[in-house]
Amino acid sequence: MILCKYSFGVGDRFGRQGKPQLAAIIRARAEGVEISPVWNKSHREHSIIGTKPADVRMEADEAVRVCGWGGAYFVDADHIGLSTVDQFIKSSDFFTIDVADFITRTASEGDINSFVQKQSNYIGRISMDGIDAAINVTEKQIQAAAEKFLLAVKQAGEIYRHIEAAKGAGNFITEISMDETDQPQPPVELFFILAAIADEGIPAQTIAPKFVGRFNKGVDYVGSVARFAKQFEEDLAVVAFAVKEFALPEDLKLSIHSGSDKFSIYGSIRASLKKFDAGIHIKTAGTTWLEELVGLAMAGGEGLAIAKEVYTKALLRIDELCGPYATVIDIDRAKLPRAEEVDKWEGDRFAAALRHPAPIGRSIKDVHKSNRKIDLDRSIGAGQAYNPNFRQLLHVGYKVAAEMGHSYLDALEKYEDIIAQNVTENIYERHIKPVLLV
Ligand SMILES: [Zn+2]
Repeated sequence: MILCKYSFGVGDRFGRQGKPQLAAIIRARAEGVEISPVWNKSHREHSIIGTKPADVRMEADEAVRVCGWGGAYFVDADHIGLSTVDQFIKSSDFFTIDVADFITRTASEGDINSFVQKQSNYIGRISMDGIDAAINVTEKQIQAAAEKFLLAVKQAGEIYRHIEAAKGAGNFITEISMDETDQPQPPVELFFILAAIADEGIPAQTIAPKFVGRFNKGVDYVGSVARFAKQFEEDLAVVAFAVKEFALPEDLKLSIHSGSDKFSIYGSIRASLKKFDAGIHIKTAGTTWLEELVGLAMAGGEGLAIAKEVYTKALLRIDELCGPYATVIDIDRAKLPRAEEVDKWEGDRFAAALRHPAPIGRSIKDVHKSNRKIDLDRSIGAGQAYNPNFRQLLHVGYKVAAEMGHSYLDALEKYEDIIAQNVTENIYERHIKPVLLV
């Protein structure tokens, strides 16, 4: 199973927006960019909402049928481990094997020693196409990489073989993810992670390393854009080099678990992909659900009332809702509007506080030059009314909407048109276009 050069993980909390999501992909095709849509949903999301992996398969198939999409598409078992993979086997054909929890655990001394010995021919300087400075490799680095990652990759191998036994080799896409961890992985570590993946016989087609900076859910990148750009380019070079060195699948590419809305780094991603003629898998964070709230607010009346109800309830349960996402959100509670204040808002005001405006008119050069820290409250292009704290709380507040059951789902149906417009526009204009087109 081949994953095409560009693929886009869309996710969809409530499973109702498959068609408008696909419409964004179809629009990109009309502009000459072929993207494979991937509907991703994690065990965490399924358990909070009460959906099953089979629901995602149904949504994807239905969207593809109705929209007449003739291209490839996938259903991703997102961030699975050995204890959660089984329920996804039947309905998924893309598996994001998450072994971040194993990074801190060490393999046996024997395994580490034989890995270090096998890779010792890379000690010295490795030159790679596309980057000026050669990457320096020391024995100590190989040893450290083995200590950190070898057990995690062995665990990935076990999960891969478990899936392979059930589905058959070549019948699914394999991603290895190590992004949900504290420490970023420098390019030299990525190189030896890929060496270990090849040793383990995993035909990985995407790899999600941890990049520098913060990738919080639903808001902009926080960190140095220049440092990110440097790491991203070096990682692209490492992947291309490792494919040849270790005979990994030709279509292996980086996967960015973007958490959505990393507008500040989109320019450098686009420039680097172009430079390396490289593909990319971009996984967004299910901010489609926020577009549902934007649409409901804009619809006014009953729709706006539901959007306000979600916020009011989320505010009361902030600790509970933020708990599972503690490492990937940064909410300044003092800056959250009070429920009584929000209650007075018109729909446009609610939508403006929630919607994260994308930067317009910044050139790639500007982004490359920019070495400053991005501050969430002063995100590029952020409008006056936009409140990233409000947005983050609502992003994790989907449990509240799930508990509202039919009253929420019925509203999605009633205001389908305005919601669909927002969903398509968001994916196409704010994500696909700045990363792959402009
Ligand atoms: Zn992720």
